Amino acid sequence: MTTDFLIIGQGLAGTLLAYFLEQAGKSVHVVDQYDERAATQVAAGIINPITGRRYVKSWKVDELIPFARHTYRALESDLGISVYHERNILRALFNSREENDWMARIGEEGYAEYMLDAAGLEAYAEKTAPAFSYGEVRHSAQVEVGKLAGAYRAYLAEKKALTAEPFDYEELELTGSGVRYGGLEAGTAVFCEGHRACFNPYFNYLPFGGAKGEVLIVRIPDAGFAKILKHRVFIVPLQDGLYWVGSTYGWNYGDDNPTTEGREFLEGRLRDILTVPFEVVEHRAAIRPTVKDRRPFLGRHPEYDQLALFNGLGTKGASLGPFWAKHMADFLTENVTLERVVDISRFEVAS
Ligand SMILES: Cc1cc2nc3c(=O)[nH]c(=O)nc-3n(C[C@H](O)[C@H](O)[C@H](O)COP(=O)(O)OP(=O)(O)OC[C@H]3O[C@@H](n4cnc5c(N)ncnc54)[C@H](O)[C@@H]3O)c2cc1C
Repeated sequence: MTTDFLIIGQGLAGTLLAYFLEQAGKSVHVVDQYDERAATQVAAGIINPITGRRYVKSWKVDELIPFARHTYRALESDLGISVYHERNILRALFNSREENDWMARIGEEGYAEYMLDAAGLEAYAEKTAPAFSYGEVRHSAQVEVGKLAGAYRAYLAEKKALTAEPFDYEELELTGSGVRYGGLEAGTAVFCEGHRACFNPYFNYLPFGGAKGEVLIVRIPDAGFAKILKHRVFIVPLQDGLYWVGSTYGWNYGDDNPTTEGREFLEGRLRDILTVPFEVVEHRAAIRPTVKDRRPFLGRHPEYDQLALFNGLGTKGASLGPFWAKHMADFLTENVTLERVVDISRFEVAS
């Protein structure tokens, strides 16, 4: 069997890349071992244009958000699913300095589009402990990235374009015109393994980071929260009275298991915020594929042209993924020059 592209890993990165390659008329075959601890399966998928303690616009957000919205809407339509939910984010402000900073930022060019001064608390007014005040973020969203990957996986399986097993690097043969893997011949193998890329013998020279995150799925009976609340932790509405609560950030971790400390931290935060009871339904953990300079990894291997990588979506895969997957597909299919800031050639192979 032959295919244009062999994609290894089908989290959000592999899913979006496969989508754009197929859109460009190329054939793909995906090798992925489903892992409930993959970042894509655990993430809330929040798209948040205004981040950090200084309330600054996320990198390239004016381009990324419209492109993400368009891409997810197209995927929803193709796959017959609903995954992109536009939800404003209520941002708790804890003192007058934060409130002043928020108001000052709104006055700056390009910010009023994203930030509201008067926040609509709705159901949160009754069921949470009040903060000093609140700001509200527009053009934010929650993308059910795990559900999206699941639906794309089913689509790939249906057309026999999925091998659902661990990838064996030793089985990969580099040929004059591409790669051979099992019975498959492909022009290019593209690795999209998330944080597990550190086990990839061809690309492990890149400075992969990794940030462990723990989350709770909780039931808050009759809460009726429709917006996302950021009040030290995020509370994100799911279906059926369930909410995603997270997350922790761990830069030094031995494994990807949920921990007692993580659970206690999140439960403690939630107890401080909510004035109504909640029940923990699930406690999950995963590792975000972070990169030291916080920019995605795109490109071909410096020595083996038939090998490429799309990774490093870090903490912001939902917003970064569509735009950079398209850029990667354009690079692979039309030889478009990669933007230097995301090109893996910014890092040298260790000698
Ligand atoms: C707790 C938490 C909360 C987050 N919240 C948000 C958020 O709100 N908004 C946001 O934008 N981002 C968020 N993220 C980040 C987001 O999840 C990631 O940016 C994105 O999902 C990364 O996707 P990926 O495909 O690169 O990696 P992954 O999701 O890790 O997918 C990699 C896939 O490759 C497979 N794989 C790897 N190696 C092999 C192999 N050798 N053989 C076969 N299969 C293999 C894995 O099983 C997996 O299916 C969060 C992450 C975490 C952990």
